[in-house]
Amino acid sequence: MKKDELIKEAQDFLIHSADNLIGPEVALSKQIEGTNIFDPPILGFGDSEDTYFHLYQDPNIIGPDFLLPTQWLPQAQTVISFFLPYSKEVRESNRIDPSVPSHGWLHGRIEGQHMVEQLCLHLQNKISEAGYDSVIPTLDSRFQIFKNPPASSLLYSSNWSERHAAFVCGLGTFGLSKGLITKKGMAGRFGSLITTMHFPRDSRQYHNIYEYCSMCGACAKRCPAHAISLEHGKNHTLCSDFSNQTLAIYKPRYGCGKCQVAVPCETSIPKIKALQ
Ligand code: SF4
Ligand code: SF4
Repeated sequence: MKKDELIKEAQDFLIHSADNLIGPEVALSKQIEGTNIFDPPILGFGDSEDTYFHLYQDPNIIGPDFLLPTQWLPQAQTVISFFLPYSKEVRESNRIDPSVPSHGWLHGRIEGQHMVEQLCLHLQNKISEAGYDSVIPTLDSRFQIFKNPPASSLLYSSNWSERHAAFVCGLGTFGLSKGLITKKGMAGRFGSLITTMHFPRDSRQYHNIYEYCSMCGACAKRCPAHAISLEHGKNHTLCSDFSNQTLAIYKPRYGCGKCQVAVPCETSIPKIKALQ
């Protein structure tokens, strides 16, 4: 199977998947019934031996708990990462109230994540049909999230990171709000697989981790928890506390995402836009 064929598989699957629709049985309000959660994905392909994966084991980046692609799958050749941009309806719904997550955004966290997982599984099936193995780290029994890990400077870490994998695979760079800015913006969700199948790698069109962020500060102004600043970056404790407040109201749903909408990086790369 060629890379372009797998990309088309992913895009067609999303377009035709019932899981991409907010159905009447789960819709939090009448207005969002039948709304698409995501637009079609973009995909990036990275080398399983990329040196960045080793760098991520540094305690100042993620930490030693981060597992290399070859630790997830010993014969790994390629890491495949995808970004599913939220639909216009979901994004625009979350722009309206400055401090309350919209119903569409709340669905993105639960039904949206289900869609991400279905797409991962579909791609895994296609790779299997072609005769190759793969692992979906976040669906693997070894996947772990750590709070206050002793060997890391982070409040939370995990043994796999979708955004860091996406960075390696050429999908984009981090922003001040710590989301990843892709050519389709930041508002959306990521998924990834590691496979023994070899695909040509995508070259990264950037040289540093914040290259696509214009440091405009718009996300800091939007943050209801005052968790972002140009001086200190993102305070994950404040963000997490705010997220927990939304969980108390919307359980099992939660979320915020105000830093990802009504900002210059919502749907595109702000610096490139500014140069056009
Ligand atoms: S809103 Fe501005 S500062 Fe914040 S991540 Fe986007 S481009 Fe960077
Ligand atoms: S998700 Fe919400 S609370 Fe967290 S940084 Fe973004 S705007 Fe602030």
